[in-house]
This record gives sequence, C-alpha cells and structure tokens, in this order.
Amino acid sequence: VAEVVEPKALPRLREGLKFEAVDFSYGDEPVLRGLEVDLPKGTKLGVVGESGAGKSTLVSLLLRFYDPTEGRITLDGVDIREASIESLRGQMALVSQEIVIFNQSVADNIACGKLDATREEIIAAAKAANAHEFIEGLPEGYDTRLGEQGTRLSGGQQQRVAIARALANDPAIVWGDELTGNLDSTNSAEIMELLTRLNKEQHQTFVIVTHSEEVGALADRIVRMNDGVIVDDGSRGDDY
Ligand code: ADP
Repeated sequence: VAEVVEPKALPRLREGLKFEAVDFSYGDEPVLRGLEVDLPKGTKLGVVGESGAGKSTLVSLLLRFYDPTEGRITLDGVDIREASIESLRGQMALVSQEIVIFNQSVADNIACGKLDATREEIIAAAKAANAHEFIEGLPEGYDTRLGEQGTRLSGGQQQRVAIARALANDPAIVWGDELTGNLDSTNSAEIMELLTRLNKEQHQTFVIVTHSEEVGALADRIVRMNDGVIVDDGSRGDDY
C-alpha cells in the first residue's frame, strides 16, 4: 500500500480504534465481510475463531499490509489510509507464538524493540514482562548470550522476552496472535495474568487473537469470528 501525498502523523492513541464496515478479499473470495469492531482505548479484546476465520487478516489490515476493499479502519477517528505508516506502525507491537530469539545478549534481544534503549529502559521492560527475575538468575544476567550458541530459554521465558521486546517500544496497542499457542497451561496462565496486569497498569489496548476459549475468557470482551464475519460481539450481548 502507498501513503497519501501528505500523510498525517497520528498522535498516540487517545480514544480508540474502529473497524467500520470492513470488507476484504485477497482475490475473488471474500475474507472479511461487513466487519464492525469498536475498541475503546484500554480494552482487552479477545478475538476467538477457528483457523481461517480471518483473525490474522485483521492485523494485516491494521498494519496496512493491505487496505480494506470497502469500509475503513480508524484510530481516534482518522482513517489509517490518511496516516503516515511510521506513525501507525510505530504505536503497535505484535507478539506471536513464533518467537525469534537472536544469537545475542538478553539485553540486545529486548532492545531490538527500541534500538536506542538504555539499560534502565531494558530492565523496566523486562520487569513489566515478569522477565527480570529469571534474567538476573542467568549466568551473566542481562549480558547472557541467547540462541543457538547461548543459553536456551524455556518457551515461557522466551515469550516473556518477546513481550519485554514489544514493551520496550512503549506501544499503544499490543496485538497478540496465538501468543500462548506453544505454551503449556501453567505458562499460558502466567502470560495471560501478565497481560491483564499490563493492561491495568499501563492502559495499553490489547487484542488477543486465539482459538482457545480459555484464553479468550480472560479478555474484557470477546468477539467471535466465523468465516470472515463477526458472529458474536460481547459488547452487544446478542447474536447477529
Ligand atoms: P485466521 O487467522 O483466523 O486463521 P486468516 O486471516 O489467516 O484466518 O485467513 C482468512 C482466509 O484468508 C483464509 O481462507 C485464508 O486461506 C485466506 N488467506 C489468508 N492470507 C492469505 C493470503 N496472503 N493470500 C490469499 N489468501 C489468504
């Protein structure tokens, strides 16, 4: 997608995010149809649906890898097509189940969310992500090398490093795509508790995409998708 000639620099999210009557298709088949999602700032939204329902497509549109074929997506009422891509993507963080850990120190692995992060900022992000304690316990603390030639972290520890990385950039919106998918139930519960706390303390807006009802139940509100449409939106309390 291209930017408009004079893109607006979006300020940090103040009110909320909306999908307004969004239709989308990658080709001939419609993938999203008439999608309406109203997400006031600070909400922890669960998006639940089977594989192929269109959940990942939502984030592709929000990040403007594609534009809707009909309808629009707004941040504080501004159509994201009017915004600069930098100011749009700069306030979002994506955390998925596919975690990339680089062959670098823990500190560098966290700082790649914000290249000029100071050690204090890195530690603050790690604390917020419940990672500080286990990092301090590693042989060389924050300087411990990770990855193939370094220390191997457990799945839950890797996910907390990935969350610290996302938080280092102080995002307004955190989009978690099946982020507990590879974790056992104990680690999964811990990550969900962590998100609940972050959402309370930092008023970040969370979207938790999942096929797990258990994970979805921890959200403030659940939107259920099936085959490109919303079949239930907890804010409306009805089926339609
Ligand atoms: P979910 O995240 O709920 O599993 P997706 O958004 O990934 O669903 O996919 C929704 C539909 O769009 C599926 O039918 C999928 O095959 C199709 N799809 C997803 N990505 C692409 C793509 N890049 N090109 C063509 N079709 C796609």
